Amino acid sequence: TPRTRALFERAKKTIPGGAGSTARLPRNGWKPYPLFVAEGEGSRLRDVDGNEYIDYLLGLGPMILGHRNPVITRAVSDAVANLGTCFGLPYELEIEAAEKVVAAVPGIDQVRFTNSGSEAVGTAVRLARATTGRRLIVRFEGHYHGWQDTVYWSNHVDPALAGPIENPRPVAMGGGVPTELEDTLVVLNWNDPEALIALMESRGHEIAAVLTEPAVFNTGCILPEPGYLELLREQTTKYGAMLIFDEVITGFRFARGGAQEWFGITADLVTYAKGLGGGFPVAAVAGTREAMRLIADGTYSHSGTYNANVVQCAAVSATMDLLAEPGLYERQRALGDRLATGLETIARDRGVAAHVTGIGTVFQLWFADQKIRNWRDAAAYAREDVFTRWYEEMVLRGVLFHPLQFENLFISLVHTDADIDATLNAADDAMSVI
Ligand code: PMP
Repeated sequence: TPRTRALFERAKKTIPGGAGSTARLPRNGWKPYPLFVAEGEGSRLRDVDGNEYIDYLLGLGPMILGHRNPVITRAVSDAVANLGTCFGLPYELEIEAAEKVVAAVPGIDQVRFTNSGSEAVGTAVRLARATTGRRLIVRFEGHYHGWQDTVYWSNHVDPALAGPIENPRPVAMGGGVPTELEDTLVVLNWNDPEALIALMESRGHEIAAVLTEPAVFNTGCILPEPGYLELLREQTTKYGAMLIFDEVITGFRFARGGAQEWFGITADLVTYAKGLGGGFPVAAVAGTREAMRLIADGTYSHSGTYNANVVQCAAVSATMDLLAEPGLYERQRALGDRLATGLETIARDRGVAAHVTGIGTVFQLWFADQKIRNWRDAAAYAREDVFTRWYEEMVLRGVLFHPLQFENLFISLVHTDADIDATLNAADDAMSVI
């Protein structure tokens, strides 16, 4: 990998840490340096040294329709050629994009576009505070809500914490400088009805919103227990707090209508990013008409130079059209399920203790003797040493995914049966040497 090595040395001179967002992760990270991409195409990536990979990282999730999807790319370039890039003024394509998102997702009436998932979460949190006149936000240990988040990593390294903690010890993310997510109450156990009920009974009337990933994908692909999201809905309604679903990962991935459609629960506010623009950088905060009222009447100014720019709206509009193809999600789910169960079977046959959590479209293979049900289990039982060897052996065999075990494998809607077959072959080989 001579070219990769040279680029990394060059990058370190002008880019702190050597490259963009994911290149320098804590703990294992990319070893010994990140892969430098030359091009992506469909489900494949090629690096600068000519190696090709079947890609299950998918840019950390957004490439839901594959790299360089020709329809989306064309729609964006046409829109820029015909319209321009951004105006700070309204134009029809923004309406078209908004209408398609609202039509795709049950439970939302309105949507505002913005630039990143972090911004969308920040907007939802501030909007909930403005709407309710309350300050406290309830959130859950191990959930990640963006770069303004000060508590995510502390949750990984401090399993001694117990009970809801006010103003949690800020560590790591953003250097631990508090931002939107200060004044949060962190409920330590997600999927724990008693913990939530107890908190709401004691502080429910102070709480502006309960903020949750509807399924947890930043610490291990953990699905809600039956009835848990219903409980969050019921408790927030009971105490006049808003329910915010952070669907940055689940949106347009679990189903076209995201987790709201998949689980049949309607939140007040929902945040989207990743899948929304088919890989183009766009995010959104959406919600019921009532939840979006303060934006509509101008009380809450959702401002931003690049919000709803032409690139974003063209990408969203084309992505929504493509995602409407009948049978697409069923096909993707079947492929993902085949990969997930195939990996479990290979591990079993090779005598490796491993199991899958999540659903076919986004999952993780854990190397652990015990079933992983939450991040504490992951901290206690997940074998990082085995996972790292597995990751490295798979990269050598042309299969790429996130190098950290508490992250995810993403399946796109353009992965093929041939990709899954090749991945399972590589896995069989890799599993025999880890
Ligand atoms: N919320 C969730 C659930 C996420 O997974 C992420 C990103 N991984 C974010 C928010 C932040 O989104 P962004 O990186 O676009 O700011």
